[in-house]
Amino acid sequence: MRVDIVPIGDVPATVKREASSGLRRVYDCEVSVAAAQDVPEDAYDSGRRQYRAEPFIEVARRAGGGGKNVAVTPVDLFYRQRNYVFGLAYLDGRGCVVSTHRLQTSSDGGFSQRSASDIFADRVRKEVVHEIGHTLGLEHCDNNRCAMSFSPQVTQVDRKEETLCGSCQRLVL
Ligand SMILES: [Zn+2]
Ligand SMILES: [Zn+2]
Repeated sequence: MRVDIVPIGDVPATVKREASSGLRRVYDCEVSVAAAQDVPEDAYDSGRRQYRAEPFIEVARRAGGGGKNVAVTPVDLFYRQRNYVFGLAYLDGRGCVVSTHRLQTSSDGGFSQRSASDIFADRVRKEVVHEIGHTLGLEHCDNNRCAMSFSPQVTQVDRKEETLCGSCQRLVL
């Protein structure tokens, strides 16, 4: 499998690196990073001050290669009625997007001695693994340690691991 990471907007090198390493660790895939793309300004909703998520997937589809494409962007995304999303995937398999915007939110768990940058890096890997999992046909998993568990808030992202549980693995590997 080939995965193209498509940066949209100003994506730091560390984020590209974490996304690549998370994908390589979990999936049997070749990962490349495409050239940075412009933020699709027509996706901006001035009332919400957020961007619609779907056009970012379209940009990634156009800019990526022939395999799976994952857009990564620092801007804040929403989808339909949800206040925000960490990511979104098309079920037809070809594209998905991850926004790092809300992954920088500090968790109120107070559980960790780890630095904010390490926690952020973990979240980026988990969410990229999650969205690519959807493009491979995986649905949300009931195991809250699995990267495919539904995690609408950072506390849930922090609780899960960056790998797939055994049953999700068997479906895709
Ligand atoms: Zn999901
Ligand atoms: Zn699972």
